[in-house]
Amino acid sequence: MTTDDSILLRGVRVHNLKGIDLDVPLDKLIVVTGVSGSGKSSLAFDTLYAEGQRRYIESLSSYARQFLERMDKPDADLIDGIPPAIAIQQRGAAKNPRSTVATVTEIFDFLRVLYARIGIVHCLGCGRPVARDTIDGMITELLREAAGTRAWITFARPRDAGLAPLRKDGFTRALVAGDIVDIEAVPKAVRALDVLVDRIALGVDDRERLADSLELGLKKGEGRVVVRTEDGREYRFSEKLECRSCRLPAEDPYPNLFSFNTPHGACPECHGFGDLAVIDEDKVVPDRSKTLDQGAVEPWTKPLSRGMQKELLTEARRRRIPTNVPFRDLRPEHQRFVFDGGDGYYGVKGFFDWLQSKKYKVQVRVLLSRYRTYVACPACAKTRLNPRALSVRVKGLNIGEVVRMTVAEASAFFEGLELEPFQRQVAEKLVQEIRGRLRFLMEVGLDYIALDRMTFTLSGGEAQRISLAAALSASLVGTLFVLDEPSIGLHPRDNHRLVRILRSLKDIGNTVLVVEHDPDIVRAAEHVIDMGPRAG
Ligand SMILES: [Zn+2]
Ligand SMILES: [Zn+2]
Repeated sequence: MTTDDSILLRGVRVHNLKGIDLDVPLDKLIVVTGVSGSGKSSLAFDTLYAEGQRRYIESLSSYARQFLERMDKPDADLIDGIPPAIAIQQRGAAKNPRSTVATVTEIFDFLRVLYARIGIVHCLGCGRPVARDTIDGMITELLREAAGTRAWITFARPRDAGLAPLRKDGFTRALVAGDIVDIEAVPKAVRALDVLVDRIALGVDDRERLADSLELGLKKGEGRVVVRTEDGREYRFSEKLECRSCRLPAEDPYPNLFSFNTPHGACPECHGFGDLAVIDEDKVVPDRSKTLDQGAVEPWTKPLSRGMQKELLTEARRRRIPTNVPFRDLRPEHQRFVFDGGDGYYGVKGFFDWLQSKKYKVQVRVLLSRYRTYVACPACAKTRLNPRALSVRVKGLNIGEVVRMTVAEASAFFEGLELEPFQRQVAEKLVQEIRGRLRFLMEVGLDYIALDRMTFTLSGGEAQRISLAAALSASLVGTLFVLDEPSIGLHPRDNHRLVRILRSLKDIGNTVLVVEHDPDIVRAAEHVIDMGPRAG
């Protein structure tokens, strides 16, 4: 046997391994099995993975090496033929507290680019779709009129801009209340002239002429042109991205608009966190059977805030708010007065606002946290994105609505997404990447997981299977993948899918080594290393 097709291990003495010799075939699906304490992990992680990782790091420049954790050389006489290694473990999958299933699988990155490229912007004023008009689109729309319909093509020009330049360019007539008049004859009261470009019979005069006139109108009308039919219908076209009905300008989306951790995309209310910190009134008045006299407002029962309690009682008596009646029996407006203040009194809210300004003191932060609770941000409905980002839709859904879907729902959404011919060139590859990643997540049995699920809330098995799906999507080859009981937490009926995933990881040109007890997985292995009690 040569080192070309096997990893050679001789005299390995890592942890409880007592000088074992072993040949591990490359490019195979291998299962390491054995009772607990037999040295499965010592072999898989502390020897094979550790050495593969160590050699990989050694191969990097000294500059790159300083950023990576150095690994100790495993204790052995010989380790040969080992490829670069990646461990897919249960623990330590999520380091970033803000990462979600969509971000760690890169689905979110592809989504952002997809939304920037083919998303349809909607008007922030009226919610209607906003799009640029193209000459082709304008002609298509106009030719829906009955053939022979007479129409005037005009552009708007403020009278203040003067008439001489118009004359110089050969524009001599304008449209006033449906009549064509000389521009000199337009009544002074009309501040904006509808300057006539052409008079045309739709569908009769040739398309070329219509296109030229529309183009000229756009050029002279600073990107806008108006077409009126003789029976009073009006078409307002614009080559700017702006709402046709409210004229509100819009901007083309770009990938960073959809990042909640940049100022471009973050919701201004919650700064991209999705939640808002508010004062929890149930914590401020934890016992509603207490009267104001008895200290219903809990934070003001502390010795340091005796002054606030006294002020509350004075202000309440002045307004004939009973201080000897249980808080829950006070009239709603009196309860609100205690919380919100008003009429010269600061109330509980004013007190906490004041504390907020003293947040640099540790004890104040502790006090604030005791009465704080988090509510879903009402501005962005937990999507963390600002209204501009949420105004961009693909197939009717904004990006926040897509990441709220489960893997199975998102998969159905993208499988059913049909691209227009003009979108294919810019979006087909992106959609394929997204579909592929969703398919891998389905394959590893995570169809029920929402894409916006925070990764730190995943179980160890779920996190590991997400890493597995990510490794598959990355299409790495020539690598040793080491996995730790990937079947844990997986329903037995999904074991065959896991096996299929492990096989495809191997089939693209990797060695896959799995520490596993599950008989289904052991049976699927091409090579079994049994660490049984005697082997260790
Ligand atoms: Zn609008
Ligand atoms: Zn928000």
